[in-house]
Amino acid sequence: MCEAIVEGQLVSAAPDAPKEAACPACGGAVTKRKRRATDGQVTYFYRHKRGVGEECPLRYHPCQR
Ligand SMILES: [Zn+2]
Repeated sequence: MCEAIVEGQLVSAAPDAPKEAACPACGGAVTKRKRRATDGQVTYFYRHKRGVGEECPLRYHPCQR
């Protein structure tokens, strides 16, 4: 997902965003990830940690821009 909960606030994934946060839907632990697109643009997003959020509605919805 693009946004996650950090210290009770919704934050967007960005270069200076915290590495670890919580999923706004299931509350599970998520980590910040970085992806470089084919055009060279780097995008940040949050993804569930392994084994977390198996049933979460946001699990298969990475950040789309
Ligand atoms: Zn979740």
